[in-house]
This record gives sequence, C-alpha cells and structure tokens, in this order.
Amino acid sequence: MSEELTEYQGPATMEKITSLAKRRGFVFQSSEIYGGQSGAWDYGPLGIELKNRIAGNWWKTMTQLHDNIVGLDAAILMHPRTWEASGHVENFTDPLVDCKKCKTRFRADQIDPANLAEKKCPDCGGELTDTRKFNLMFKTHIGPVEAEAGAVDTNLIYLRPETAQGIYVNYKNIIQSNRMKIPFGIAQIGKAFRNEIVTKNFIFRTCEFEQMEMQYFVKPGTDVDTFNEWKVQRWAYYEKLGVKMDHLRWHQHGPDELAHYAKDAYDIEYLFPMGWKELEGIHNRSNYDLSRHTEFSGKDLQYIDQENNNERYIPFIIETSAGLTRTLLMILCDAYDEEKVADKGNDDDYRTVLRFHPTVAPITVAILPLMKKDGLAELAQDIRTELREDFSTDYDQAGAIGRRYRRQDEAGTPFCVTIDYESKDNGTVTLRFRDSMEQVRLPRAELGERLWKEIREYKRLK
Ligand code: ATP
Repeated sequence: MSEELTEYQGPATMEKITSLAKRRGFVFQSSEIYGGQSGAWDYGPLGIELKNRIAGNWWKTMTQLHDNIVGLDAAILMHPRTWEASGHVENFTDPLVDCKKCKTRFRADQIDPANLAEKKCPDCGGELTDTRKFNLMFKTHIGPVEAEAGAVDTNLIYLRPETAQGIYVNYKNIIQSNRMKIPFGIAQIGKAFRNEIVTKNFIFRTCEFEQMEMQYFVKPGTDVDTFNEWKVQRWAYYEKLGVKMDHLRWHQHGPDELAHYAKDAYDIEYLFPMGWKELEGIHNRSNYDLSRHTEFSGKDLQYIDQENNNERYIPFIIETSAGLTRTLLMILCDAYDEEKVADKGNDDDYRTVLRFHPTVAPITVAILPLMKKDGLAELAQDIRTELREDFSTDYDQAGAIGRRYRRQDEAGTPFCVTIDYESKDNGTVTLRFRDSMEQVRLPRAELGERLWKEIREYKRLK
C-alpha cells in the first residue's frame, strides 16, 4: 500500500473554490443582499446542474443497479414522537462552550483539551463558560398557536436532522406495497437540518443540507458480512466517479465516537484543502431504530419470513449515509486544477480548469461558432438542437475562441464543438477536449456517437 497523504497538496484553497463557485454561478451565499444567512447557501445555474447530476448518479447506482433497492421521498416534517423514539431528543447534542470575553462559540470536542481544562478561549485567552449540551434539532410550530410559557407544547415539531427516520417509519408500507423480501434496501435523497454550532468551510458544514441515504434491512447475524459488502460497494462508487483515490481513506469510529444507535461505523474521509474530513458514513445501526419505533408506536415492526416457517425478527439495518452538498464540495475541490498553458508572460498563460467526470459535469458539450456571421451561428444552433436531446449543452458566440474555451474549462465542460468555415464547406466540425486541450476534426454526423464513446471511456489525465 502506498503511504497515506498527510496534507493536501493540490492547487485548490477554500477561498479559490468559494470565489470560483460564486463567479461562475455554482453556489451563492443565502440572502446575500441582507448580509447573508450563515449556514445556508443557494445553488446557482451550474450548481444545481452539478447537484442534480451527482444525485442522479448516486440514485442510479443505488436503485437501478440493484434488484432489491427501491426509492422513497418522505416528508421533512414528521410526527414528533419519531424523534423521541430515534433518540434524537435525548442524544442528538453537541457540547457547547462560549468565550465570555470575545463571545465566540465553540464545539467543546473540537478545541484543544488543554484550553478546555484551563477554561481559556483558544482565540483570545478569555474565560470559557462551562460546557453545556445543545440539541441540534431545529424546532418550529405547526398550526397557528404557540403554547403559553410553561405549558406543554403540543404544536412543537422538528425539521428532520437526518433522512433515515422517514425510511424506518415506512419500512412496513414498502414491504407490503412492493412485496420486498429481506435483504432489501430503501434509498432516499432529501434535505436535512441541523442547528450546527459552528458552520464553516463554505458548504462543508451547513444548517440546511442534503443527504443521500440508503438503509439496508438484513437478518440479524448477517449484518457484519453485509456491512463489509457495503463498504466495498461505496468505495467502488467513488472510484467510478473518477475522483483521486489517494485522497480517500477509511476511518473507523472508536468506542467514544460511536453514535448511540451504532454497533460499528466507518467513515469515508476525503482530503479537502482544510484536511481529512468525513464524506460519508457507513453504519451498522443494529435493530435499534426499529425496536425503538416498535416500542414508541406500539406497532409490530417485526419482519415475517414466509419462506422460513414464518420466522419473525426485527431486522438489523446497515446504512450508507452521504452528504449530497458535501459530495458536491468534494467534487469541486477534486476537480479543481490550475495549469500553465502558454509562455507569453501574462495572465493568459494559466488556465483554471475543473476536471469533472463527464457524467457529473453541468454542461457536457459547448457549441461555439468561430464567427457569428456568414451563417456559422445558424449552423452551430442547428448542431446544438441536434445534440441537446441527448446531452446537456451550452452555446457561446461571444468573444475570442480562446477566451470561450477558458470559460468552458472553468465551468468544467469536458467537450467543446467548434464550427468554422470548413464546417460549412464539408460538414466537419472540431471537437476539443478539456483535459488535454487536443482537437480532432470529424464529420458532424459522427459527433453524437463520438461523444457517447468519450463519456463511456473517460479517464482523467491527472
Ligand atoms: P459530524 O460528526 O461531522 O457532525 P455526523 O457524523 O453527525 O457528522 P452523519 O450524521 O453520519 O454525520 O451524516 C451523514 C452525512 O451527512 C455526513 O457524512 C455528511 O456528508 C453529511 N452531513 C452531516 N452533517 C452535515 C452538515 N451539517 N452539513 C453538510 N453535510 C452534513
């Protein structure tokens, strides 16, 4: 095995990523004109395309490529008893300390234990408060009336802090409606909300985010093998996505890190510019969740194995839980590159390029007429019309062709098609590759097939 990387070595910094994301319309700060809302971000035209494609890719991998995994889209608002049963009301807390002097708030588990012991602020040396528990669930009220102070709040409702519980409460519905037999899985992509004490590093940790979760229901005793199989599958998923594999590693949770429900847990971590950080968690949640929902709802959530003398048991659950918005940040950092492409001694010597895999790139192919005049624009539009049924396309006729290539490089567009006078004369076009900047000439009629082939066989150069 090769040595594990200890430090990020690429050209990306969080500042560069944040600024590129804004400049090119991937991600904007929420409510920016009012000074911004911390912990929340808006996805612009390129960002939503990228997010949809990552989600689509995950969805296909988890549902369509498996015989026994089906999808679900559960509501964000759930019966409040759900969160008592799941343990979130009691346990979903972070330890919080405040600096009495500079008022900065910290997660006690994320500052130097020495600071905590001496109760000294790591930023200003001021005195820290005692550590107190802070529940991360957002609370709101359903219906027009809030309870009087001191009264039991029957209108209290939470924004879900994870998508998983929507799956557990529907597990019997899905067995019945879709005749699922154990082992089987339920996949879901959706929003989750956590009142994070510290939100930083752009979209890495936010209060509103999206998760891509799959819950796999298995017979007790087969859980350890299934857990190991899912570890293999999730690793292979990132490999197929074409990300830098030496930037991924496993981290097993120690006894003091394990969540209240977990029997075993591994994170897949990615080497972000700010260091190794969790990307996805793979958890053996035992039969904790379904046992608790049985207890709190009074409903029998046992599985009845009709092929095995009606044997009854509460299934174990193996969960794969990835952040969609966090994966998007990972893909932006992973794809980011700066390259010297000329030697003229000016800014044009360098290009910024996002080396997205073509299956997730927001724009697959950009159509660029060399000139607007002499019918080239019309011809280019005509080619775009032909391609847009199958590919995500862009059209750009403004400015010098070199500048247009750079704009597409920065948007991560893997292919450009240039239309020139020869195209008019003999029906050929130029296909330009983002990564190598190489160009080939080919008949227009072969373009679609060639693009499919390039996407299928794509290998990242670096
Ligand atoms: P952490 O310990 O970093 O708070 P966690 O271990 O509680 O995270 P999980 O509950 O396992 O995270 O959530 C599964 C996935 O959801 C994470 O791997 C991450 O990709 C994503 N995720 C969790 N919290 C956030 C957040 N606040 N912002 C963005 N993504 C998040």
